[in-house]
Amino acid sequence: MAREKEDCKNHKWIPLLGDNKGKSVPTALFTCLRCGDLKVGTQTIKISRYRLDMGELPMNSIAGIKLMNEPTVDTTASGLIITATVDTNAQGVGAPLFMAANGHLNTASAVSSATTPCVALAMDTGTGSKRVLLHGVLRVDAWNWTTGPGTSGLIYVSTSTGILTQTRPSLTDEVIQPVGWALSDDCIYFTPSMIYLTHV
Ligand SMILES: [Zn+2]
Repeated sequence: MAREKEDCKNHKWIPLLGDNKGKSVPTALFTCLRCGDLKVGTQTIKISRYRLDMGELPMNSIAGIKLMNEPTVDTTASGLIITATVDTNAQGVGAPLFMAANGHLNTASAVSSATTPCVALAMDTGTGSKRVLLHGVLRVDAWNWTTGPGTSGLIYVSTSTGILTQTRPSLTDEVIQPVGWALSDDCIYFTPSMIYLTHV
């Protein structure tokens, strides 16, 4: 089954409960013969192998959210993703971003607390209205993380703008903010600490 790329534009609704042995069963439950969408009353619920879409309504009483350990495609993520205005990003997918005073995101640098803390990772290249990861797993094949215990597997904001690093910043005023840990050589578990240290 191919991954669905776009919505069905021409639903052909049939009742899921229909006539049975000559009896007409009243129903408000329909499915589209073409795409398989479900419709309850007038509301469409999209269910497929890859998607449960309830028109951006919340899902309540969920005990857990399953993340993909390792997204299978380069520069893809699984987790909490929003769309935000990104004003600077020359580094592309995976760039750490901080929030500026105007509420827009900019590429972070650990050089000082003026350009930190990192609150999101870029999921798109370029600037404008872009997807960003707030929490979750991101894969970038260009990365080459070291996994391990203690501080060896931790990932920080680099003093190079828009870059993540496993080298802890060490100069005066530089910001030490763990933003996640290496799940594999290509994947970060992004869980940015809101507690950060400024080097004395
Ligand atoms: Zn359809």
